[in-house]
Amino acid sequence: MFYIKNVVTLIHEQEMCNSCGICLTVCPRRVFQRSNRVVEIARRDACIECGACQRNCSQGAVTVRAGVGCASALINRMLGRKKACCVVDNG
Ligand code: SF4
Ligand code: SF4
Repeated sequence: MFYIKNVVTLIHEQEMCNSCGICLTVCPRRVFQRSNRVVEIARRDACIECGACQRNCSQGAVTVRAGVGCASALINRMLGRKKACCVVDNG
């Protein structure tokens, strides 16, 4: 299973970020990384738009449209609902 590239709504405002690292802790997909003490997006296309980073960022440095992307598409598909899915099976 892989995700279609360049469809994720995740935005990280670097100038607002204090590199506290909370988003690294809460992200289930390891989207963020710390490089030279600076937190940045490393794997944008791995994001499932769960919203955990946005909810836990005290600086408002992350925005993502939670519930409209891959996470909701996966859940809808598992429930048998007919809804556009951003996931492609490769096996
Ligand atoms: S939680 Fe927010 S302020 Fe902290 S590193 Fe992540 S984006 Fe930056
Ligand atoms: S929305 Fe979820 S998966 Fe995407 S970067 Fe934030 S915590 Fe990680």
